[in-house]
Amino acid sequence: MVRAVGFFALTVAMYALFFWLYNVVLGLEQPMSYFLRRRNSSWATRVELMSRRMDTYQEILDQLEQRDNEVYRSVFGMNEIPSEVRDAGIGGVNRYEAFADLSDSSLLKTTAIRLDRLTKKAYIQSKSFDEVFALAVSAGDMAASVPSIPPMYPDAYIMLTSTFGYREDPVWGGAARHTGIDLATDKGNPVYATGDGVVENVSSDSRGYGIMVVVDHGFGYKTRYAHLNAVVVTEGQEVKRGDHIAYSGQTGKCTGAHLHYEVLYRNNYVNPLNYMDLDIHLADYRNMVQLVPRQKGTSARRRRR
Ligand SMILES: [Zn+2]
Repeated sequence: MVRAVGFFALTVAMYALFFWLYNVVLGLEQPMSYFLRRRNSSWATRVELMSRRMDTYQEILDQLEQRDNEVYRSVFGMNEIPSEVRDAGIGGVNRYEAFADLSDSSLLKTTAIRLDRLTKKAYIQSKSFDEVFALAVSAGDMAASVPSIPPMYPDAYIMLTSTFGYREDPVWGGAARHTGIDLATDKGNPVYATGDGVVENVSSDSRGYGIMVVVDHGFGYKTRYAHLNAVVVTEGQEVKRGDHIAYSGQTGKCTGAHLHYEVLYRNNYVNPLNYMDLDIHLADYRNMVQLVPRQKGTSARRRRR
């Protein structure tokens, strides 16, 4: 019995000695705590690596977004995706409950939040590319739709008398923005659609545009033909580039017979001269347009040149 107690005491003493030697003399850690600390630091390294990789993805995604907004979407006349939508946070306060006991700045929590945001951004980006792709498939339609020819047979009797931009108002005086171009012509000259589209509006206003037609070409483009004598298309009618849509005239606010022609891109007035070549060969124009005779009852008035 005494031997047994003595053996036990010796064992305890040996343990104590081992402990003292290991911790105090050698300054070493317990193997288990050492193992846990090692594992923890390896996790931290991995999370940090992940976070750095996310920096790269974030950068790539930002560049994609920029190209998407500035190049792909704008080429097809689509609106940019607002940054509020792209950067929208992900709802749910307790989404990161698992990390509740970690401080806010904890690497793991920040990383999880970033990963969620990146996932959402990538999703929005891929939806956007789907849309752009769908439009790109119809890029041929786009080429046919964007206004690109003069609205009247551009012979010597058609004169550009007023350009786009600020000028003196011909009727009221004072500086006024001219939202299109004026092509002087006489009454009854055929007017042609400058791109494929749908007739959006046919209306008459004795003070402003007079009798006018608006064609919606899609892809963000519209054209307006004003001060007409008569319109030969109806709202909702599909037209092709070069289809006869109206006859020139002198209705509304104007001082002489002319065609006022506007091009709108995403509801902003743009310079129509950037969307046509007034010096186009007449033979080329005849190939693109179904020429029709002038309006019955009107007579050509020969002009200068
Ligand atoms: Zn005008």
